[in-house]
Amino acid sequence: MKVFAEGKKGREVPANAMKAVRFHEHGGPEVLRYEEAPDPVPDSDEALVRVKACALNHLDIWGRAGLKNVEIPMPHISGSDVSGVVEWVPPEEKEFRKGDEVIVNPGLGCGRCEKCALGKDNQCRRYTILGYGVDGGYAELVKVRRNSLLRKPERMSWVEAASFPLVFLTAYHMLVTKAQTGPGDTVLVVGGSSGVGTAAIQVAKLLGAKVIATAGDGGKLAKATELGADHVINHYEQDVLGEVQRLTGKKGVDVVVEHVGKATWEGSVKALAKGGRLVLCGATTGAEVTTDLRYVYNRELTVYGSFMAGRGELLKVVDLFNEGRLKTVVDSAFPLSDAASAQKRMEESRHFGKIVLEV
Ligand SMILES: [Zn+2]
Repeated sequence: MKVFAEGKKGREVPANAMKAVRFHEHGGPEVLRYEEAPDPVPDSDEALVRVKACALNHLDIWGRAGLKNVEIPMPHISGSDVSGVVEWVPPEEKEFRKGDEVIVNPGLGCGRCEKCALGKDNQCRRYTILGYGVDGGYAELVKVRRNSLLRKPERMSWVEAASFPLVFLTAYHMLVTKAQTGPGDTVLVVGGSSGVGTAAIQVAKLLGAKVIATAGDGGKLAKATELGADHVINHYEQDVLGEVQRLTGKKGVDVVVEHVGKATWEGSVKALAKGGRLVLCGATTGAEVTTDLRYVYNRELTVYGSFMAGRGELLKVVDLFNEGRLKTVVDSAFPLSDAASAQKRMEESRHFGKIVLEV
């Protein structure tokens, strides 16, 4: 039985301590502590969600390890992708009530500025991500903006529901909004076994494109093929650029989905056909790269930076899941208390798809 006490502003809020995984300093997976933390205290524009599952993202590792010029509030709770049950909403909330099964939009715009008003909340100057700029879902309870709540797709398990928002909204933004991918395009998905890679393979197929995906071993390549990739390349054993040239009759690909960075960048630029578009949403192997600019102007290439997506794009993704046109790709589930092992699995690239914590 939960004990409720008067919170600030005279609201009824839970006053217990919850279990959470927090870090008090930056470092390796060993800084993650499974411990008691105060229950979050929501404001009137927020809701409290009892977490059932929370998916990992590379962002969790960057936040834990620490980034130059980025201040993470300490102690900190990571976790951007949450599924769970509404525990508390203020009386003025009309759409959601206690007990509703929900997922959460991980993107947090201010909701007031010009960019937010245009639906480009990911370009908001005050934008942050749940579990990064504010405490997230590696916990029994998380407070979220009321307008971040979305209905959980009915047919999904808690683990599946937590696994898709961040990577699918990212893949949608990259391929639909930025690169405007369509039938007749050939798309190279670099690192096709990652969360964003498995999402990008599916979104590109849905748009009618031909997909070439790279991955690091035979098992992952077989799974990428099952997801819909037309051709697969082992990036450790094969010459990716040579294979792309062979598969496209030396034309190159129309779109490259990049998130690997330093290890693949030069090949990704050279793999593009004339008029090709390169979309980049991350740089997990390093951000300092060299680019032969002659390729960029001779071939009239376009490079798009891509960061999260607007709330409307996530709503479209949810519709596509509800219609059964996309599917979640879950690699493994760990108990919340074992978040460190889950992050290690991600850092060692042993996963295909999403790693999820069960709470
Ligand atoms: Zn804003």
